[in-house]
Amino acid sequence: MSFKSFSNRQTTIDNEVVMKGTGVHSGAEVSMILHPAEANTGYNFYVQGGGQIGHVSGDFRAVSNLTLCTVLSAADGTSVATVEHLLAALRGMGIDNAAIEVDGNEVPVMDGSAEQFVDAIQETGLRELDEPRRYIKVLRPIEVRDGESVGEFFPYNGFRLDVEIDFKSEFIGRQRLDIDITPSSFKKICRARTFGFLKDVKQLWAAGRALGSSLENTVAIGDDRILNPEGLRYPDEFVRHKTLDAVGDMALAGAPILGLYRSYRGSHRLNSKVLHALYEAKDAWTIVEIAEKPAHRYVAPRAEFGIAFAMPNFAPETA
Ligand SMILES: [Zn+2]
Repeated sequence: MSFKSFSNRQTTIDNEVVMKGTGVHSGAEVSMILHPAEANTGYNFYVQGGGQIGHVSGDFRAVSNLTLCTVLSAADGTSVATVEHLLAALRGMGIDNAAIEVDGNEVPVMDGSAEQFVDAIQETGLRELDEPRRYIKVLRPIEVRDGESVGEFFPYNGFRLDVEIDFKSEFIGRQRLDIDITPSSFKKICRARTFGFLKDVKQLWAAGRALGSSLENTVAIGDDRILNPEGLRYPDEFVRHKTLDAVGDMALAGAPILGLYRSYRGSHRLNSKVLHALYEAKDAWTIVEIAEKPAHRYVAPRAEFGIAFAMPNFAPETA
């Protein structure tokens, strides 16, 4: 088991992981079990409720609401909220496939970051599967503007995020983080917590929403101070969290992305729009496999793949 680098084979978690925590919407205690899953299944949510189990795919086309967090919904009405930090942890730690069972309509918010998900994934470990990992390779730039927000994809041989935020609040201001996402670099962002302005949180509470949000899982910004007694985990915790959110949003692409994603004043909404724009521009991406050790004469690791690799770095298109 290694988290050092992405290999060319798909992965899942080695064993089941049980986690409990607060649901940020309901304020209720929710529990979740992460299960190992087969290759080419991706991330799937199994939602228990009313004696039934509903299924929702971890797919950007299932996104139904992005106002407070990312909500995924299936055609039959099954939905699951607050998926973004868990998906960020799975993607960031190089886990391609997982079945996620929740006993309600939301993933526990934990401490508002992805740290406890990462700890749990590390504890159980990673299992390599026999199928090659397939990447979505960005071939040309894509740009989406949404008011003052801009999101762009560029070709890049890795998964890199360049996230810039610009808030009027003196506690946040302008912050930027440009980072290649690997299982080791992901540790730099996985502890960054969700943040919100107290006035917005009060409005949500008055509307009966975000009932589980508290200083235990949110950095609350008041008029003149950060309300959390422990303060910030990093001076730039805000941009680190926005970067974490972007990893989670991009995890809904269906496969890891080989590209640079740059956002200015980004949001879940912007990230989702850019993913849709990329998907719809069929000439802007392709599916590739990467050879583990590029060689002059590449030998396919398994004959049953039936794919004749020709290029040193990238396999020919498979889709
Ligand atoms: Zn977040």
